[in-house]
Amino acid sequence: MGRLYVVATPIGNLEDISQRAIRCLNEVDLIAAEDTRHSAVLLNAYGIKTKTTAFHDHNEQDKVVELIDYLQQGHSIALISDAGTPLVSDPGYHLVSAAHAAGVDVVPVPGACAAIAALSASGLPSDCFLFAGFVPARAQARLKFLRRYRHAQLTVIFYETPHRIVDSLGAMIEVFGKERHATMAREVTKKFETIRKASLEALRTLVSGDNNQQKGEIVLLLAAEEKDKALEMSQEAEAILEVLAEELPPSQAASLTAQITGLKKGILYKAVLAMRPDVDD
Ligand code: SAM
Repeated sequence: MGRLYVVATPIGNLEDISQRAIRCLNEVDLIAAEDTRHSAVLLNAYGIKTKTTAFHDHNEQDKVVELIDYLQQGHSIALISDAGTPLVSDPGYHLVSAAHAAGVDVVPVPGACAAIAALSASGLPSDCFLFAGFVPARAQARLKFLRRYRHAQLTVIFYETPHRIVDSLGAMIEVFGKERHATMAREVTKKFETIRKASLEALRTLVSGDNNQQKGEIVLLLAAEEKDKALEMSQEAEAILEVLAEELPPSQAASLTAQITGLKKGILYKAVLAMRPDVDD
């Protein structure tokens, strides 16, 4: 049985690749690349001559069968994407999960990831964060998606495309308010790298007033909602609310906790939403 290596590649600066990744790409029998022509730049830069095959969103399901068969014959494969860590908003999930099902060893070869690089330089709390992936393109879907994170008590990381950044900042102001803080990390590790931490309103002013800020690749990181003093309650009340919120819709959990504890239902309702940012109010 061969091994499947999941290999991270640079997100802009070709030097951001580990020695282990280079050795692995040299030693495997086959490199499954999201776009073989795109990856040729990296492979040529490091003199890597390993055979490549295309593995992308449009052929992933069919290609999985072929690649698992190849692994079962004893060959090894390195999976790479155009940039960063495969499977992070990139193809590879079906292959990795099929490899597990087939008893093939999956070996990560870690390295660059735009979300983590941006977080490390964002100036936002990094002890607890959530990666939310790409913000949807359509206005209604975007608002619905953003509302899920309205009361999140952690840093939320979004991927964004340059032509939608102004609209997305506008939607974020609508959902989170113009004072909420965020960091925009643009063109990380590249020549025009820009990392700005400011209010959503200030970021929108910066981006909409400068076309250059609407170019390249962008990670947006949203600061947590400031803790509302009014939501503070005893540990016992919080424990009751937490148990009920796991089982019941927010308004019912709040209502029952209000009956048990004597606290105001409105405050408890807000607290449930803060606990369960995944639940739509
Ligand atoms: N797998 C990649 C990773 O590990 O980060 C992400 C691939 S996803 C298809 C591409 C998105 O990642 C871009 O639209 C952007 O949001 C983000 N991204 C990738 N490279 C970036 C960079 N150098 N600077 C800022 N954002 C970047």
